[in-house]
Amino acid sequence: MRRTVHVVGAGLAGLAAAVRLAARGIAVVVHEAAGAAGGRCRSYHDPLLDMMIDNGNHLLLSGNRAALSYLEAIGSTSGLAGPPAADFAFMDLASGERWRLRINSGRLPWWIFDHNRRVPGTTPADYLSFARLLYAPREKTVCAAVECAGPLYERLARPLWVAALNTDPKEASAALAGAILRETLAAGGKACRPLIARDGLGPVFIDPALRFLGQHGAKVVFGHRLRALGFADDKVTMLDFGDDRVESSDDDVILAVPPVVAAALLPGLETPSEFRAIVNAHFRLAPPAALAPIIGIVNGTVEWLFAFPNRLSVTISAADRLLEVPRESLADKLWQEVAAVAGLPMTLPPWQIVRERRATFAATPGENAKRPAAPTAWRNLWLAGDWTRTGLPATIEGAIRSGNLAADLAVRS
Ligand SMILES: Cc1cc2nc3c(=O)[nH]c(=O)nc-3n(C[C@H](O)[C@H](O)[C@H](O)COP(=O)(O)OP(=O)(O)OC[C@H]3O[C@@H](n4cnc5c(N)ncnc54)[C@H](O)[C@@H]3O)c2cc1C
Repeated sequence: MRRTVHVVGAGLAGLAAAVRLAARGIAVVVHEAAGAAGGRCRSYHDPLLDMMIDNGNHLLLSGNRAALSYLEAIGSTSGLAGPPAADFAFMDLASGERWRLRINSGRLPWWIFDHNRRVPGTTPADYLSFARLLYAPREKTVCAAVECAGPLYERLARPLWVAALNTDPKEASAALAGAILRETLAAGGKACRPLIARDGLGPVFIDPALRFLGQHGAKVVFGHRLRALGFADDKVTMLDFGDDRVESSDDDVILAVPPVVAAALLPGLETPSEFRAIVNAHFRLAPPAALAPIIGIVNGTVEWLFAFPNRLSVTISAADRLLEVPRESLADKLWQEVAAVAGLPMTLPPWQIVRERRATFAATPGENAKRPAAPTAWRNLWLAGDWTRTGLPATIEGAIRSGNLAADLAVRS
């Protein structure tokens, strides 16, 4: 009988695993509980704004090699947009100062010696002190490893860590911050070009993957929630979907579901169990033509401002403090800041607030230590997801790498 790999969960980890397997001619069935694919990386029609929006603005960097290979495999690299160089616009809302961070392309960081390229108020020595994160022990927090004060911290390091780790640096893992540093700033500007899915996450990351799977004979079943697994000896022998079951000890299973779901399905599995929120606000209007596509904002509630066609959109990470703020007053406050940055009138345009309560696991040393590896106690079962032991924080890159690894392990078994 032909062996099938059952991929449970059609987020990016599950889709990456399925794409990799299907490309090798392996029979794949993807089982997704929701009515659509994408998980935490999806687009949908918002009735309030009457337009397609993403559940959250997602930023990739040009050094995200697994994400870029995935997009190449599904034929959608051209859907990413970004400047030709690592060029980031910033504004300090308290002082009104604006600057651009321009990282030179090679590994030798001469940009830190050029005051027109580095952060105002910083010296080259400030940057070199952050190199300590590259060798930080696993149990340390960022602020126990490096000094969390001063202009470099406030104007670059803090915004970067909060965005990448979705956790305040005071409690975030220094090792995970070091991994980001290693793959971005330490790798040179060629790894730091900001990239966004110009036409939305769905059209770039999800829909082409579903098309690819269809063309390669893989099946994707929606509304198919895995409710339980059956085990015999060291193998999974049954997948229970409520109305139907799959029974076979010859098939393989890749579990690419969120950590709480995986922990409920697998006896004895330890997973991260603390999460942090991300808040996005979307404002419907045509952005001024001269506005940079991405602006980092310090000393405000807004952290990053993204300009899309017909929409301005803001992201605030580690945003649990904003979960209970009434929507209207939050929209109003955020718009005041956006208007100041973009030079727009204070009148609030049509808006939407999207709060993802469990956007990512909390990237603390304690939660990072709870991340399981892809192999499990069962010979035909592997784990995937941004919360597995990827060595990276919860990101698209981590999710895709985890899916690739689970697929490779299934092929080798
Ligand atoms: C608002 C927001 C902003 C973000 N910004 C960025 C960013 O700028 N850059 C970046 O790199 N990353 C960002 N991320 C993180 C990124 O979205 C995630 O790391 C990635 O999407 C996780 O993919 P995943 O497949 O691991 O998990 P998920 O997307 O959670 O996928 C799990 C899937 O499993 C399904 N499922 C659950 N239970 C079952 C079951 N029992 N049976 C079958 N299916 C089931 C779910 O419906 C879901 O589709 C952001 C996340 C959020 C929420």
